[in-house]
Amino acid sequence: MPERTPYIAANWKMNKTVAEAAEFVDALLPLIAATQCDVVLCPSFIALNEVVERRRGTAVRVAAQNMHEEDAGAFTGEISAPMLVELDVEAVVLGHSERRQFFGETDEALARKVPAALGADLEPILCVGETEAARDGGETKAVLERQLQIDLAAVDSIDLARIVVAYEPIWAIGTGRVATPEQAQDACAFIRDVLRMRGAAANEIRILYGGSVKPANAAEILAKPDVDGALVGGAALDPVDFAAIVEAAR
Ligand code: PEP
Repeated sequence: MPERTPYIAANWKMNKTVAEAAEFVDALLPLIAATQCDVVLCPSFIALNEVVERRRGTAVRVAAQNMHEEDAGAFTGEISAPMLVELDVEAVVLGHSERRQFFGETDEALARKVPAALGADLEPILCVGETEAARDGGETKAVLERQLQIDLAAVDSIDLARIVVAYEPIWAIGTGRVATPEQAQDACAFIRDVLRMRGAAANEIRILYGGSVKPANAAEILAKPDVDGALVGGAALDPVDFAAIVEAAR
């Protein structure tokens, strides 16, 4: 089985001004200088340029938190893949549950966004995950399978290995209620199986867990064989906490 480089991403959501983002990067870089992990920062659109410039010459990568599927047009308030690429942004979070829940992001839109990102050479970080009701109803796998089938419907199997998938159970995001390492492992292994059935080189795909990851629980979750990293929200707002999670991924 190929070694998968651990992947730790900081989703700042609607937090940090440009000045605060700059301060974070300056504090983080010396703390993670020796890491072998892929470290990705996901600032707001307006802080992307500052973060890209501050991390130049380092291995830290930068992702947007969303994008529109069209390259240009009458879509007021939206940002396109070519705009992100022009800034040297390398990746984009797609389908975060907050976008699905509060901004009407649909799987059908994601089916257009994922290929648009790949076409622009942006690495999609595709988020999938079930509600608490779906988990309690025993529907977790059905939900994950449906999301993956629709969101990736237009992606050729050869290109699936260019995608990062984040398993983010909605009941664990921002709640302090983390999935058990076994729940995270089961879901990530299932996602890998679904991707394999789609013809992907599934052993090469990074599958992350996200949902209340903290320095205190990261190592146990990241030790699971199918959990290749973490998408971190709240604990990624503090450079020391985030660096501790990066350290836990080694
Ligand atoms: C997230 O925003 O993707 C997330 C996982 O948030 P938190 O770590 O705060 O639960």
